[in-house]
Amino acid sequence: MKITHVSAECYPVAKVGGLADVVGSLPKYQNLMGYEAQVIMPFYNNNFVQNQNFSCVYEDELQLGEKKYLFKIMKLSGSKLGFELFLVDIPKLLFTDYVYSNEDSERFLGFQIAVLNWVSTLKKKPSIMHCHDHHTGLIPFMMTQCIKYDILKTISTVLTIHNAQYQGWFSHKKVHLIPAFNFNNVGLLDWDGSINPLAAAIKCAWKVTTVSPSYMQELILSANGLENLLHHESAKCVGVLNGIDTEVWNAEKDKYLLKSYKLSTVQSGKKEHKKYLCKQFKLDATKPLFIFIGRLVGEKGADLLPEVFKEVLKKGNCSILLLGSGHDNIENDLNQLKNQYKGNYNCYIGYNEKLAHIMYAGADFLLMPSRVEPCGLNQLYALRYGTIPVVRSIGGLKDTVIDISNKKEGVGIVHQKVEVKEIIDAIARAVNLYESQPVFKKVRKRGMQKNHSWEVSATSYINIYKSLIA
Ligand code: ADP
Repeated sequence: MKITHVSAECYPVAKVGGLADVVGSLPKYQNLMGYEAQVIMPFYNNNFVQNQNFSCVYEDELQLGEKKYLFKIMKLSGSKLGFELFLVDIPKLLFTDYVYSNEDSERFLGFQIAVLNWVSTLKKKPSIMHCHDHHTGLIPFMMTQCIKYDILKTISTVLTIHNAQYQGWFSHKKVHLIPAFNFNNVGLLDWDGSINPLAAAIKCAWKVTTVSPSYMQELILSANGLENLLHHESAKCVGVLNGIDTEVWNAEKDKYLLKSYKLSTVQSGKKEHKKYLCKQFKLDATKPLFIFIGRLVGEKGADLLPEVFKEVLKKGNCSILLLGSGHDNIENDLNQLKNQYKGNYNCYIGYNEKLAHIMYAGADFLLMPSRVEPCGLNQLYALRYGTIPVVRSIGGLKDTVIDISNKKEGVGIVHQKVEVKEIIDAIARAVNLYESQPVFKKVRKRGMQKNHSWEVSATSYINIYKSLIA
């Protein structure tokens, strides 16, 4: 079985968030299981591509309305990623140093057309085209509707929704950019008066998955306008919990860590990283260290953090370190707190992969007061690195973090609402837990022993593919 994953992100090639982590690890596990999985994504002008060798495996021209663009399919040479990687190079459309911008419809449409033009010419065609999020959402439509891709009609398509908030909407005025199809079926592209690539994929893909079972249920109630569509298509929708790459996220082998550690050496391993972080960021290492890592947006509950931190820091019984970037006003508010609470609070506004790894290793608690969390990977990394998650019960957080009130299975602290008071109360419960060190250590070890590797979920995907091919 040949599986082609199509995505805008893939770790370590280009990463903005969890999508990259999933697409950079799921195919690796599928190959280890004996299947042939590969990834195709845009060729961005970033550090990764500048430092690798590629060979051109296909060259052609694509048509986007009136305009024509030359493109190449570049294959990564001597890949150590655990899967074959193909990049679509469209110099005049896609060769940017960023992944996303405010106007992406033509970039990603061009990308998807190039992918299908190339796949149409392959002798050994994929058995499965696995599309990730709206950036690849027109592929299931084009494969079933566009005359020029008739040859691809029988290939099964899977859409995985990593985040339904973003749908890639564009105006019907641009419909001519899509290769010719029977216009009677234009409704397949439409949702609420716009061309909606995510909706089109939900309608046209053979199977739709979301990245956790709870998120699947939640989407039927709240999906940024797609609730009714998901309800209608629910028979072909299923939630499959994301796994994590246990080679990359392994405190025994992590190349970013100062010192390796494992379950039996967790105390000393974490202490060293906490000491380092507290020295670098001038924080008090004697207090429990809380961290937040992520996009500073409403979905993550980040807008409430400045107020939460102010209240918590007034008590002076913990240290807080934040790593993230996002809305300017949230960044400014978080930066301003630095002067007021020197010694107990600091933040790094930006993206820093190495620092993220050290923070998961050095922290006592990870905060995730998310409004929406399709799966969430941070809490899984935190658990594995012995950092206790403090999370809101939603989506994948609900599926992976059991509250410590369950004395046998609890691995974290769970609150129900995204409200300042509830988050502050959850932090207070965490500080209490820290004060009873024997219980704290027991909970921490229990979390580290949880198995969130890809083995189970990769098998679920394979079973889905098999059912489609059958
Ligand atoms: P998202 O909704 O952003 O995809 P996930 O929890 O699924 O959230 O995945 C987030 C991924 O991005 C994790 O690997 C996390 O460590 C990483 N990440 C998020 N923000 C930053 C940052 N500012 N610096 C480094 N890594 C980050």
